Amino acid sequence: MGLIVMKFGGTSVGSIERIRRVAGRIMERKRSGDQVIAVVSAMGKTTDELVRLANEAVRRPNKRELDMLLSTGEQQTCALLTMILEDMGAAALSLTGWQAGITTESVFGNARIKEIQTERLQKALHQGKIVVVAGFQGITENDEITTLGRGGSDTTAVALAAAVQADLCEIYTDVDGVYTTDPRYVKAARKLDEISYDEMLEMAYLGAGVLHPRAVENAKKYKVPLVVRSSFNDTEGTVIKEEAQMENQMSVRGLAFERNVVKVTLHGLPNKMTTLSDVFKKLADARINIDIIIQNISENGLSLSFTIAVNDLDDTIDVLEKEKAAIGYQYLETEAGLAKVSIVGSGMASNPGVAATCFSALSDQGILIKMVSTSEIKVSTVIAGENLEKALQVLHETFQLDMTVRVG
Ligand code: ADP
Ligand code: ASP
Ligand code: MG
Repeated sequence: MGLIVMKFGGTSVGSIERIRRVAGRIMERKRSGDQVIAVVSAMGKTTDELVRLANEAVRRPNKRELDMLLSTGEQQTCALLTMILEDMGAAALSLTGWQAGITTESVFGNARIKEIQTERLQKALHQGKIVVVAGFQGITENDEITTLGRGGSDTTAVALAAAVQADLCEIYTDVDGVYTTDPRYVKAARKLDEISYDEMLEMAYLGAGVLHPRAVENAKKYKVPLVVRSSFNDTEGTVIKEEAQMENQMSVRGLAFERNVVKVTLHGLPNKMTTLSDVFKKLADARINIDIIIQNISENGLSLSFTIAVNDLDDTIDVLEKEKAAIGYQYLETEAGLAKVSIVGSGMASNPGVAATCFSALSDQGILIKMVSTSEIKVSTVIAGENLEKALQVLHETFQLDMTVRVG
């Protein structure tokens, strides 16, 4: 007998019919003798719809109230699935994030899980119940409802799996596993049998929406056995583990990308020691995530460019305008509609030609690279959004990601 966490994403629970199929899958597991914790997302596009309603209600929704609203999406699925499981003859219990003992830090919209008190959950499991937990949410020490960031139900699942020391955490979704890149963008994308925690972490941070980055972080930290697979068929999924075999000779495991990247440039900054720390401290205090940073010194002084997600643009402009005198820049410029494309693979660290191959593949297509950032296992380039699909195609081909040739 094992203890399994099964997480079902939005599309997988998009209608009552689909929730019924999910219930059938959970029942099969339970009948085979396993204890099951199910974690669910909001049905279909419910979260998007709730965000839309909030934005229709007011221009910039209060973040506390937004979390209050968004957390209801997962609760609906949680209750519906539990009703259906009971109707099928199972003993089941639905729990919201806070009923499941999930405490988070107090950041609305993007809270991190701090602690999970599992007593209530464990008690229900010991009573033979299937426990159904609403994903994506928790509660702060001051009893405020928080959400974990878009896609955060994955993190609920992995964190619960770590807390109860589950034997396996399965992420059921609308694709057969983790692909070399988003199969919706590149037809030749190929499902990977396995990928390492580090590569998956990098892919997730760099935009591969198939797993929430903090889910992978927790899986790596607590060594949670993690599988991504389809809720619509029985195909074996992708195993995420410590070390994964390389499948081709090009050192690149996959491509990730982000759309809606904005480049912000501050011109005419004072050229002094504390300028960078002044700017980024103020943005960090406002919890704005900065990505790629470039500074440029010319006769007009120092200029500083960095990228942010478009959702942070209003807050960024607010902070920078408020602090204009304190920071001492002359004017601010923004360039929206950019995309960031990244190649990821742990084999890159020992293969110096990879970045050069990436840059020439893009420039041969006439794609201008506006910014670059590298680490041991990735190379990211910022390009115009309109070039995104072309860039993905050419990089997928260049690094032979459509081919499997097992090496090493
Ligand atoms: P869920 O609602 O089940 O959590 P998501 O939409 O969050 O599903 O994640 C699944 C989607 O992730 C896929 O439909 C696919 O379009 C996208 N995706 C992005 N990158 C990848 C990748 N490398 N492999 C597989 N899917 C990816
Ligand atoms: N429902 C939330 C979202 O759409 C969380 C999740 O699905 O993981 O982002
Ligand atoms: Mg998801």
